[in-house]
Amino acid sequence: MNTFLSNWAALYEDPMFILFPVMTLALSVGSFLLFAFPWTLLAWFDPKWARPYKIQNKPFQVGKYFLPNLARITINSTMMLLLLILVWPLLRLSNVHLGEVPPWYVWVIQIVFFLILDDFLFYWMHRYMHENKWVLKHIHSVHHRIKNTCALDGNYFHWVEFVLIGSLAMLGPVILGSHLYVIYAWIIIRNLEAADGHAGYDFPWNPLRFLPLYDGPVYHDFHHARFKGNYAGALHYVDRYFGTYIKEYLEYKRTHSYPGLSANQAASENKPI
Ligand SMILES: [Zn+2]
Ligand SMILES: [Zn+2]
Repeated sequence: MNTFLSNWAALYEDPMFILFPVMTLALSVGSFLLFAFPWTLLAWFDPKWARPYKIQNKPFQVGKYFLPNLARITINSTMMLLLLILVWPLLRLSNVHLGEVPPWYVWVIQIVFFLILDDFLFYWMHRYMHENKWVLKHIHSVHHRIKNTCALDGNYFHWVEFVLIGSLAMLGPVILGSHLYVIYAWIIIRNLEAADGHAGYDFPWNPLRFLPLYDGPVYHDFHHARFKGNYAGALHYVDRYFGTYIKEYLEYKRTHSYPGLSANQAASENKPI
């Protein structure tokens, strides 16, 4: 028994234990807070100049959920860390490595693959969470307590959902046996997506809005406001294929014009769906 325990403990002396699961989790929490901070501050002050760009014409709930948000992030990250400690004996068998750094195009191809795989799986998991009444009531409803989100709410989840979302994000890197730096970059991008998707403002100059297949904060905001539909994480094309777009979201895309822009500019600013 003692030999078994000392063999088990020895697995955690591998430097990859800190560099892979522990660092990835730390980077995930750190980058999320960093991306969420300016958006959350803006929603907190809710300045007059920014109000015409609010997606929902309702007050934000920043003050009410600020401390619960920090508590959730702490509890959820702790649960994730415990799970990572538990699965490390298996996770260490993956081909994730710290060898030669791959060329830039490998980074791009792998990250695009992670993004598409993660979003596709998230779509089905999320949709299932809405269709299964028990899961909806006991797990996913936590995320839906907030109807008009600010960026910090992007990680306001029941810990089970947080762990599942984190596991989905790590599936691609484990399958491909990626370089650790590529995984770090992916996790930072994934957290940018989580914070931006809940920002609550639709600014015409938000650079992420111009990315192909991504539509900025509007898409997921409609999910919080309307509850049914728009189930993908970021890549909304999945809703088109499975017929789950929210009608009002499509209407917004067709008719919305940004304050201060001429009708022509506004039309060209709105990306077609
Ligand atoms: Zn939902
Ligand atoms: Zn959300």
